[in-house]
Amino acid sequence: MAGIWIFVEQRDGAIRKVSMELLSGGRALASTLGEDMAAVLLGYQVGPMAEKLAKCAARVYVIDDPLFQYYSADSYGESLANMVHTYDPSILLGGSTFMGRDLFPWLASRLATGYAADCTDITIGDDKGIIAKRPMYGGKVLADVIFPQARPQMATVRPNVFPLKSLEEAATGEIIHVEPKGDSSTIRTKVERAEKKATGKVDLTEADIVVAAGRGIKGPENFHIIEELAEVLNATVGTTRAVVDNQWRDHNDQIGKSGKIISPKLYMAFGISGAIHHTMGIDTSKVIVAVDKKPNALIFDYADYGIVGDLFQIVPALTAEFKKALSE
Ligand SMILES: Cc1cc2nc3c(=O)[nH]c(=O)nc-3n(C[C@H](O)[C@H](O)[C@H](O)COP(=O)(O)OP(=O)(O)OC[C@H]3O[C@@H](n4cnc5c(N)ncnc54)[C@H](O)[C@@H]3O)c2cc1C
Repeated sequence: MAGIWIFVEQRDGAIRKVSMELLSGGRALASTLGEDMAAVLLGYQVGPMAEKLAKCAARVYVIDDPLFQYYSADSYGESLANMVHTYDPSILLGGSTFMGRDLFPWLASRLATGYAADCTDITIGDDKGIIAKRPMYGGKVLADVIFPQARPQMATVRPNVFPLKSLEEAATGEIIHVEPKGDSSTIRTKVERAEKKATGKVDLTEADIVVAAGRGIKGPENFHIIEELAEVLNATVGTTRAVVDNQWRDHNDQIGKSGKIISPKLYMAFGISGAIHHTMGIDTSKVIVAVDKKPNALIFDYADYGIVGDLFQIVPALTAEFKKALSE
C-alpha cells in the first residue's frame, strides 16, 4: 500500500483550481514520504486534461466514458472503490466541494476506512501517516485527525489551503486507462441535463476575495452597492441563508453550513449578524472585515477588522476609496 492519490475534479473541459492546489500540496507530501503522487480523473472526453495531468503527476488513472459525463456517487464511487482495491493507495485526497462532500463519505463507507472532511491543512506525522487538521464545533476547536489503522487515509481539503505552484515538468507521467465498474443500470440518479449560469465570476469556493451582504441589506434592489464594490475588488458576491430564504439571491451565493464553505484571502461581511451556521462557512478566511450597525453583533467575534455603522453609508465610501487607491 503506497502512494498519494489526488482525485481531480473537472468541469466543462477544465480542471478545477482546488484540484491543482491539491496536486501542488500532494507533491510536497509525497516527497516527505518518499512516495509517488498520482492523479485520478473521471469523466467523458477528458483526454486533453489527462495529458496535462501527466506533466504534473507520476501516474494518471483515467476513466473516460459517456457514463461519467455527469457526476453521480453511484458511478464515480463504485469505480473509484474498485480502483482503490486494485492499486492500493495509502492516501486519497479531494477538494472540499459539493462533489467532494458527496463522494468522499460515500467512498469511505464503501471502503470501510477513515475520512476527515473539510480540512484546513494536511501534514505528515512521525509515523508517516497524515495529520488532517479540521475545524469542529463551528470553528471553536481545531482537531488533528490521525488514521492509525484505516487505509487509505481519506480527506477532503478546502480550496485555498495549498498554494498553487507551477507543476508542469518535462518528464511525462504514465496515463493508465481504467475500465469503469458497473453499467447504467447501477446508477440510481440520472442527470438529464445541466444548465450553466452565465455569471462570468469565479465561484465563491475558489474566489480570493468575497464580498457578502446579509439581511441588513434590506432588499434585493440594494444589492447593486455590493456588486459595485465586488466589481472594483474583482471579488465574488456571497450572502446568508436569510437572504436566500427571502429569495433576494440565488442559493448558489449562500455561504455557511447549508451553503458553501469558503476560504478566501479577504472576506467582507455587511449587515450579517454572525450566526454560527454562517460563520461555519467563513472561519478559515485569511482576513475578515465586518460592518454591522449593532456593536454587539456576533460577527465581530470573528472579524479581524470591524466597523460599527450603517452599511448604506460605508459600502459606497469603501467602493470610492478602493476605486481611487487601485487606480493609482
Ligand atoms: C440548519 C440550519 C442551517 C443554516 N444554514 C445557514 C447557512 O448555510 N448560511 C447562513 O448564512 N445561515 C444559515 N442558517 C441561518 C442562520 O442561523 C441565520 O439565521 C442567518 O445566517 C442570519 O442571516 P443574516 O445575518 O443575514 O440575518 P440577521 O441575523 O437578521 O442579521 C442581519 C444583521 O444586519 C444588521 N443590520 C441591519 N441593518 C443594517 C445596516 N443598515 N447597516 C449595517 N448593519 C445592519 C443587523 O444589526 C444584523 O446584525 C441556518 C440555520 C439552520 C437552522
